[in-house]
Amino acid sequence: MTSTIDQHRAGSGSPTGGAADAAAIAGIVAGARSAASSGRTRTREWRVATLRTVRELVVAHEGRILAALAADFGKPEFEAWATEIGFVLSDIDHTIAQLDRWMAPEKVPTPIAFQPGSSRIEREPLGVACVIAPWNYPVQLLLLPMVAAIAAGNAVVGKPSELAPATADTMAALVRELDDPAVALVLGGVDETTELLRQRFDHILYTGNGRVARIVMRAAAEHLTPVTLELGGKSPTIVTASADLDIAARRIAWGKFLNAGQTCIAPDYVLVERSVHDQLVERIAARIREFYGDDPKRSGDYARIVNDAHFARLERLLAGATVAVGGDRDAATRYVAPTVLTGVSVDDPVMADEIFGPILPVIAIDSLDEAIEVVNRRDKPLALYSFSADDTDHEALVARTSSGGVCINGTIMHVSNPHLPFGGVGPSGMGAYHGKAGFDTFSHRRAVHERSTRVDPSLLYPPYTAKKFALVKRGFTLPDPRDLVARARTALRRR
Ligand code: NAD
Repeated sequence: MTSTIDQHRAGSGSPTGGAADAAAIAGIVAGARSAASSGRTRTREWRVATLRTVRELVVAHEGRILAALAADFGKPEFEAWATEIGFVLSDIDHTIAQLDRWMAPEKVPTPIAFQPGSSRIEREPLGVACVIAPWNYPVQLLLLPMVAAIAAGNAVVGKPSELAPATADTMAALVRELDDPAVALVLGGVDETTELLRQRFDHILYTGNGRVARIVMRAAAEHLTPVTLELGGKSPTIVTASADLDIAARRIAWGKFLNAGQTCIAPDYVLVERSVHDQLVERIAARIREFYGDDPKRSGDYARIVNDAHFARLERLLAGATVAVGGDRDAATRYVAPTVLTGVSVDDPVMADEIFGPILPVIAIDSLDEAIEVVNRRDKPLALYSFSADDTDHEALVARTSSGGVCINGTIMHVSNPHLPFGGVGPSGMGAYHGKAGFDTFSHRRAVHERSTRVDPSLLYPPYTAKKFALVKRGFTLPDPRDLVARARTALRRR
């Protein structure tokens, strides 16, 4: 049995094709539901076997995946392997290695007043999960959440982005080979996603923009389905005068121009202390030349813009801007050179929304306080980058701002550590995944309290005598030995 539909994919890349095949979509979700209800997906054996097969299929389809990513928007092979295939393989390996530990019941204390008894938290699967993915990292942003859902014992229905159609087709072929209705894909555009969202799921993880996130959340509300929203925003990069400018320039240029800036956690703009502004711009320019040569258009290591609409949007951002580096573009191949803008004011159009392309505004600031003020005036971003030689600068930024994640003296790399949760805060998203965080997202933390039957004091039961009442009052306020130890530790630390 095949677990994908693609006959109603929106025609020629248009996100608004014909009416979706509601019955086919409902059938796919029903197949996933019946697999979950059978209890089959709950077993450790199914989880591990499915993850292993997904891994094997990714390896087997490696060439096809790389070709699809190149066809969709010229993703360079190195980047495609490292940020898509390698990322997925290492996540699956980590998940399989840790699964027993994650699945094990977590013993928790039972306060003295509620003894004799024991307590634990069991992670149970939610049921059927839905994963809606965007186009910019169309392999890992589809497969990583699906891997987490499978690891947690759920059936899962994925929806790749129609804006990366070759990759969506490849993902469909891969899932078809799994030949398991518990893991399915629905292909298509807005109509298909709208239809998919009419179905009842037990969790939806959506990655994309805030406008569609609101549609997803509204649809989820109909079924009281919890959501994880992985969104974007303008991730700031702060560079102080003490920073190692060579390292900062290199890491900023790499993080920004990777995938031609079409990365949710790309450094969106730079706030740099005025005294080192020019030096930083010069060094970023040098790094761009080093990475992509004198004409990045001819580099095999530089991606293209995904479609004409995004290309036109980036062109509008360049209109009237002061271009310090780059600025060339070619509509026919949707090429936009790695570009650095200077003389930008925080009120300019380029500072209004997430840039999501290879354009980097560099803005001079007079102090770290000013940078913090600029950051805090805006929506909470997905990532924040801090370059300085002084730890107190990093500490101030972490303590006085909020963001989904932080990378100190680096960009992007914090998301590759599976021990760190990945997710936004406020308008940059809600909830998280990667590693254990993903397993927990797709699990219910079920509270289990087991009472001993050896004793059954009548204290709690009617009739409520004055003596029982007094004892209950004492019992409830009896300090728990663990709380006493914690209190003592805090006192010691404060001294
Ligand atoms: P996109 O256009 O591919 O859309 C994402 C998904 O939403 C697709 O599967 C699409 O079919 C679906 N969709 C689109 N319109 C819809 C509608 N009206 N109703 C229902 N579903 C609909 O991707 P995008 O939104 O352009 O992605 C770019 C954004 O995603 C950026 O803001 C970026 O920062 C963010 N992003 C976030 C992360 C993260 O992990 N936090 C990762 C990548 C991208």
